[in-house]
Amino acid sequence: MASGREDADVLVVGCGPAGAAAAYWLAEHGVRVLVAEKKHFPRDKTCGDGLTPRAVKQLEDMGLGDELSRYHRYDGLRATAHGRELELQWPTHPVYPRHGYVVRRRELDHMVARRAVAAGADLREGHEVTEPLMDGARLAGATIRDVESGETTEVRAKYVVVADGANSRFGRALGTARNRDWPYGTAIRTYWTSPRHDEPWIESALDVKDRHGNSMPGYGWIFPVGDGTINVGVGLLSTFKRFRDVNTSTVLDAYAHMIADRWGIDPGKPECRATSGKIPMGGSVGPKTGPGYVVVGDAAGSVNPFNGEGIDYAYETSRIAAMVLAEALAGDGDAAIDRYPGLLQDEYGQYFRVARLFARVIGRPALMRELSRVGIRSHTLMEWVLRIMANLLRPDEIGPAEAAYRAASAIARLAPRA
Ligand SMILES: Cc1cc2nc3c(=O)[nH]c(=O)nc-3n(C[C@H](O)[C@H](O)[C@H](O)COP(=O)(O)OP(=O)(O)OC[C@H]3O[C@@H](n4cnc5c(N)ncnc54)[C@H](O)[C@@H]3O)c2cc1C
Repeated sequence: MASGREDADVLVVGCGPAGAAAAYWLAEHGVRVLVAEKKHFPRDKTCGDGLTPRAVKQLEDMGLGDELSRYHRYDGLRATAHGRELELQWPTHPVYPRHGYVVRRRELDHMVARRAVAAGADLREGHEVTEPLMDGARLAGATIRDVESGETTEVRAKYVVVADGANSRFGRALGTARNRDWPYGTAIRTYWTSPRHDEPWIESALDVKDRHGNSMPGYGWIFPVGDGTINVGVGLLSTFKRFRDVNTSTVLDAYAHMIADRWGIDPGKPECRATSGKIPMGGSVGPKTGPGYVVVGDAAGSVNPFNGEGIDYAYETSRIAAMVLAEALAGDGDAAIDRYPGLLQDEYGQYFRVARLFARVIGRPALMRELSRVGIRSHTLMEWVLRIMANLLRPDEIGPAEAAYRAASAIARLAPRA
């Protein structure tokens, strides 16, 4: 039995990128928003810490441009494979900037949470959302528990934003599920001190191997943090037949040995133990709404299957969700919420569909090897690949790109499942 009772227009479950952005935009719309986060800031989150131009745009729109500029800024991607490398600058785009940042999540998430509070959101750190409160079939809030004292409070809300991340226990309690036929990823990372910690390029290896030299479907990354360290990790896709047998720690270890001399690291001495996480992707989790709630960020599987980046999509989906919630509260009611899945479909539907197909193709190590061998020889081709993979095509390029998408879809359909 809860000991207290409170009311809010909107309750947000979780204050990672998705929850903090939802809280910020809701507060900006003048909505009374309470956001509950089970941990205390600053808190860490297993991540590559890489912010693409899409994420930078969202942070700037939230008024965080100046604060962001104190962190490590980079200009583009260095792709490496089969002994070659290509440096690819972020493309020019009418909407997105031509640079990204690398910011440790400990700092990034705290920064956005503070911004939401400054905009008027009521943040409860150290408060876990434990149980949905139902009003018949409709979600009407949740019980939150103070993690230290154990005290519980019933928070009644007109709407709830589910932003509790990849495992999304709260979402599951409401009936969300991942489409098991669609790919997902898994990734592992840690940090090393490196003399090259402040380079203006993030690096991606397209030819990761296990310690026996077998090609792996995924990529290795090195993201310079600019604080004396580099974030090094490996991401793999579930479309690979032997996916479940792969020990990601040993793949990361093999990758660290591969890059040790170039990056001046001691593979045996990372800054901390490597940690890993599961990455739902391509909008694979649904439904995206239900009576009284909307689902955002990783809880909705909003991660780009081409590269595993999800911070930008967490910010973006939450901004769309905040807009429909503000309309709902302004008088449109549930009809506004019902528009949310369609808005996501318009924004990401085709892109995610092709990316999921691509994930199926590269699940075949031989094909991945061949594609990377061809790609790494052509600067022009790789510039296109970067634009497509980072979802940074200009509006005038979307026409030709659709043709390329169709071709990619045809290849993907022909490719047998790994
Ligand atoms: C190894 C790895 C590397 C990655 N690298 C990148 C990268 O470089 N760039 C990129 O863009 N993306 C990357 N991603 C993906 C990115 O981390 C996620 O897409 C992003 O964190 C999603 O944000 P979110 O707010 O939806 O979820 P989360 O960041 O997981 O936030 C959820 C929050 O909810 C809180 N919470 C959970 N349950 C409750 C509850 N019941 N009550 C209260 N609070 C709760 C959690 O404590 C957490 O703070 C990576 C992922 C992994 C695993």
